[in-house]
Amino acid sequence: MPQPPPSPIEESEALDRILACIPAGDSEELVLEDCAGLYLARDLLARYPSPPFDCSAMDGYALAHTAEGYPAGSTWKILAGEGAAGSPTEHITAGQALRIFTGAPIPEGAGAVAMQEDVDRDPQSPADSLTLRCDYREGEYVRRAGSDLCAGQVLLRRGAPLTPQALSAGASQGLITLPCPPPPRVGILTTGNELVPAGQPLPPGAIHDSNLPLLQGLLRQAHVHLAGTAQCRDERDSLKATAHRLLSQDNCEILISCGGVSVGDHDHIAWLTKELGFTTVLWGVRMKPGKPFLFAAHPHGKWFFGLPGNPASAFVCFHRLVAPALRQRMGAAPELLIPPRIPATLRGNLENRGDRPHHLRGHRDADGFFQAVGLQQSHAIAGLANCNALLHLAPEQTLADGTTITVTPV
Ligand code: AMP
Ligand code: MG
Repeated sequence: MPQPPPSPIEESEALDRILACIPAGDSEELVLEDCAGLYLARDLLARYPSPPFDCSAMDGYALAHTAEGYPAGSTWKILAGEGAAGSPTEHITAGQALRIFTGAPIPEGAGAVAMQEDVDRDPQSPADSLTLRCDYREGEYVRRAGSDLCAGQVLLRRGAPLTPQALSAGASQGLITLPCPPPPRVGILTTGNELVPAGQPLPPGAIHDSNLPLLQGLLRQAHVHLAGTAQCRDERDSLKATAHRLLSQDNCEILISCGGVSVGDHDHIAWLTKELGFTTVLWGVRMKPGKPFLFAAHPHGKWFFGLPGNPASAFVCFHRLVAPALRQRMGAAPELLIPPRIPATLRGNLENRGDRPHHLRGHRDADGFFQAVGLQQSHAIAGLANCNALLHLAPEQTLADGTTITVTPV
């Protein structure tokens, strides 16, 4: 049985070692709707200006350009017809106005658009005309071509997250695909003789496998491809066969195991990774929860994350050590690998009497108050279920009620 190093390494070093092993995936042209949650593989330059032509910002009337301006009380003869979005408009000449709607091209010869609420129109008068109720300026309510974006301008940077708003920017440029590394293909293996899938009755001494849906949910949030899942007893032969099957199916390149990564008689994950030809990159991290965490790399470009089985440990290890690696594989910009912390005001007093940095599970409310929730032990599920932020507490650190802190939303 391989032994973990006598002193676990710091979490920051663990993350550095993991990131040094996992390069960004090769990029492919992916259809826009499949790019949500992925990252752009190269800078995206605008092909067209935006707006592509001068257009109206309001429903109202296009007013012919005049050097005298557009004072309150001035009257304009309304031409027959209209300018609607999607159709080209006529040109207008001095003193004329044309009914126009938002998004319609500005007619040639127009200098401003008057909002319909700002004009008096007398449809009874034989000469259909309007009178301005207030002063207007040249160019008012005209969206100029290129005022938002010029052709050639960088619209999105390489490594940018492809949020819905980023996808809409791509579509506005007429693109149907974007270059991104495709989602990594990830398998999950839970191990434990005590585990029974939810939905099945519990024999004495058994517990439901709650980490499988935890990890499925976390992977879904991470926008990766779930290549397969399996639950296995703590038996070497079946672990080896199951892990081998998971790693061979659906081009699985990352296997995340949960449980059995410590040094007990029923913990076989360290043995398993060696048996499958992986090289251990690290085993043991100075963090709480999550100390037995293991990471191993295979020469054929596959990676193995061994998470501890306690639910809070699996959760914290995923956020701190797995998710940044998945983002790097997906081509995220370096500054996006670790999510930004946000300010909060602490409710209650906290103290870390242990010798490892502690990631406390807590809840941050809409007013910015953070409170640790439930038991802060690694098996505790109640607090985990209500946790929406993690607080890092260094060894010996104490924090008093009301202190301004920063927390990581999860
Ligand atoms: P292990 O990491 O295998 O030593 O497990 C540590 C603790 O986590 C034990 O109390 C296990 O019963 C529990 N555990 C392990 N795997 C799971 C799982 N998939 N779902 C819920 N609890 C688990
Ligand atoms: Mg176990």
